[in-house]
Amino acid sequence: MAGDALDDERLRREVIAAAVMRRADELGGYLPWNELSDFPLPDGTRLRLVDGGRGGIWNPQGFGATLSILTSPDGPYPDREDGGFLQYSYQKGPEGGKNLKLRAAMEHRLPVIRFDKVAKGAYHPIYPVFVVGDNPITREFTLTLDEVLRALPGSQTLSPIEKAYAARLVRARVHQPAFRARVMLAYEGTCCVCTLKHPELLDAAHIIEDNQGDGDPVVPNGLSLCKIHHAAYDRLLVGHHSRLRGQNQRTPARGDRRTDVAPWPAGDARPRSRASPGEGGPARSGAPRDSLSACSSRARGGWP
Ligand SMILES: [Zn+2]
Repeated sequence: MAGDALDDERLRREVIAAAVMRRADELGGYLPWNELSDFPLPDGTRLRLVDGGRGGIWNPQGFGATLSILTSPDGPYPDREDGGFLQYSYQKGPEGGKNLKLRAAMEHRLPVIRFDKVAKGAYHPIYPVFVVGDNPITREFTLTLDEVLRALPGSQTLSPIEKAYAARLVRARVHQPAFRARVMLAYEGTCCVCTLKHPELLDAAHIIEDNQGDGDPVVPNGLSLCKIHHAAYDRLLVGHHSRLRGQNQRTPARGDRRTDVAPWPAGDARPRSRASPGEGGPARSGAPRDSLSACSSRARGGWP
């Protein structure tokens, strides 16, 4: 592949990726499997975007290099994120096989769309990712999230500054969007205060802030809030009911919105954090405690 063919392939995947990211944004940061299997493109044609088998590497007909890869925590391959570098196993099967076109993406420096499974039948898209390494001994490709990491040799040799950069990148491009997608799925793309149902206008807010020990990016620690209510929540203009002193200290009933989030009482001291472990915050993992708001109790119990 060279010259015009390479330029054409680069342009095609930019158009496809832009449409994918736009659609994911509309839905709250993920795409359902049925759309990935038959995706409408801006020119009116349709294209399968993912491998329908168990391999994960997708090489559409007419493409000189891999268009997309799948990753899944419960998938058949031991892929792993390592300091900004994704170690992606060769696809099993005949020598070469689908791996050849992932190698071609590396050789031609063509970006690939990465789809991370965030729930059953739901995938968060990450674009661009770059194939930067190919190890036939361990039978793994190495992929990075941006051009800066592409120039570096690997996670083992990063300086402290480069490691901090890589960690920030993984958080911003992988972990935070996946958290948002899971919360949007759980809340069915609805603000849990005003019920606005426009996922593109919603954020996933942490109940316990993510810079604290128990602020895990998991659905029981998440609230789906529109931009206005998220801003109000961050400014403590509304608060999680579990922090309201002497008020609403009861288990919220399903559908009860009065105690979801409510204004802080006048004169109430503003806490440093919205909730703290042992003070009504959620358990580190597992089901929310009673003190979680009805917002949380309305979530569809974790995975769809
Ligand atoms: Zn709202």
